[in-house]
Amino acid sequence: MDFLIELTAFFHKVTFVTDDFIFMEQDRAENIYYIIQGKIAMIHKQSHTFITDIEKDQHFGEIGVFSGQSRQLSAKSRDFTEVYRIRKEDLFGICENYIEAITAIRTIKESLDQQNYKPLKMRCYICREMDHVALKCKKFSKFRGNLMRMYAKQMNDKNRKSKRSSSMALKQGSDKLTSDSQSQSYGSEEG
Ligand SMILES: [Zn+2]
Repeated sequence: MDFLIELTAFFHKVTFVTDDFIFMEQDRAENIYYIIQGKIAMIHKQSHTFITDIEKDQHFGEIGVFSGQSRQLSAKSRDFTEVYRIRKEDLFGICENYIEAITAIRTIKESLDQQNYKPLKMRCYICREMDHVALKCKKFSKFRGNLMRMYAKQMNDKNRKSKRSSSMALKQGSDKLTSDSQSQSYGSEEG
């Protein structure tokens, strides 16, 4: 049987809702994912850093599976998200039947050991270079801790919006008040 056909038999469709974690930092890397619909945020919880969003037709989770290392980032669903998931043991099990696949896995593993992501065609999520991952990126320091800032901004926007709508309501109320009974309201205020 053809390698890819054999492989697709092991794709399982899995769904996540908003804020579900697909995996977390330090988890054992057991699956690779392909997004059918929705959006996944890659974040570094430890430093409260949002790194990037991964969207439809993109895949993630390969580095841990091929390197054998635990997850360096956490993947969180931003939406109702549907993914295909293939388990590491199924993938490697099929690969055992194909000499090219065995060779490819070995090449990828050896490259990853030397921080070379080219054979995996993985790019840094931040600067898109192929010789490091986002956590090792020179620009990571600019991102570090941005979740707190994003959260603060979100709360600010929300406050401003609710303030604006309440002040609008107040204004409408006061317009009504002044047009209805201007003298009376002033009068009662003074008296
Ligand atoms: Zn980079």
